[in-house]
Amino acid sequence: MSVLVLTQEEVESLMPMNDCLDVMAEALATLARGEAFQPLRPVVRPPGAKGFMGLMPAWSQAQGYGLKVVCIFPENPARGLDAHQGAVLLFDRETGETRALMNASAITAIRTAAVSGVATRLLAREDSTELAILGAGVQARSHLQAMSCAGRFERARIWSRTRGNAEAVAAEARTSFPVEVVDSAQDAVRDADVVCTTTSATEPVLRLEWLKRGAHVNAVGSSIPTARELDSETMAAASLFVDRRESAQHEAGDYVIPMREGAIREGHIRAELGEVIAGTAPGRTRDDELTVFKSLGLGVEDLAAATYLYQRAEATGVGTRVDF
Ligand code: NDP
Repeated sequence: MSVLVLTQEEVESLMPMNDCLDVMAEALATLARGEAFQPLRPVVRPPGAKGFMGLMPAWSQAQGYGLKVVCIFPENPARGLDAHQGAVLLFDRETGETRALMNASAITAIRTAAVSGVATRLLAREDSTELAILGAGVQARSHLQAMSCAGRFERARIWSRTRGNAEAVAAEARTSFPVEVVDSAQDAVRDADVVCTTTSATEPVLRLEWLKRGAHVNAVGSSIPTARELDSETMAAASLFVDRRESAQHEAGDYVIPMREGAIREGHIRAELGEVIAGTAPGRTRDDELTVFKSLGLGVEDLAAATYLYQRAEATGVGTRVDF
């Protein structure tokens, strides 16, 4: 038996953003149809340890088992490294044999932004032309790519705590629209039809009073219950869509904190994205509606990405095969 190993560069070359949007839409619909299974992710935080580890197992009828193991070291960007390190493992659907080991940093960067792309296609107003990106790290970069695939934007404004990081992202961006660096989150968000929050902030970086009527927000950072990017007013005013209800209720500070404050109540989640794709729940219903997609990241997304990558690697011969 051989195991396919895919590096960061190989993952990036085999999974163009546009294709990944389709793969993610199908993965989320599969979950909504009950053809996939995933538990909440265990998070390992030993007292005094540097960083923490997340385990993201998933299964689907069509794809079998997959597992992403990701070590999150928030200090890594200062060392020039991705904060998210790890591997996605893929197992044979019939026998459970290990089939592949793939670079998780690349898969996480691409699939997360692709899911926001799917949300934007489904939930943003069709006449959206102005984009705002908050944050200037890995996800900010991949979100600019995904938004290029998802919408017909005419310009983007990017803000980050460290202006130089936003300047670097803007300079590197290969988008069909110009990307302007601005000095505050408010300046970025003003007039934006679509806002992507991609920061590691623990306190809100986005306020309801800054948002244009009818905006759509992809809330991507704050994947733990004690951190959030959006203020409670935004969450209360929004029609809220999530990748998975159970995950939002347990893992999202953007949901858990306003719930604890009494700003939102049970039933506030309008739908899972997969339900909208599968046609069992409506998406945006009015032009002036504020829609928020709270993304946490799901094991089924990594499983679907890895299955796609495995098939593409088999078809093209890319990657290294190792006897196992
Ligand atoms: P990076 O470390 O590459 O970038 C983080 C960005 O957040 C930087 O631009 C940084 O600013 C900014 N930031 C950090 N702290 C603050 C703060 N207190 N206030 C404002 N901005 C801040 O991280 P990633 O791009 O990999 O990830 C971004 C977020 O997305 C993380 O919270 C991560 O957990 C989450 N994530 C979510 C996923 C999902 O599926 N939903 C998947 C992967 C990541 P500066 O420019 O000053 O450095």
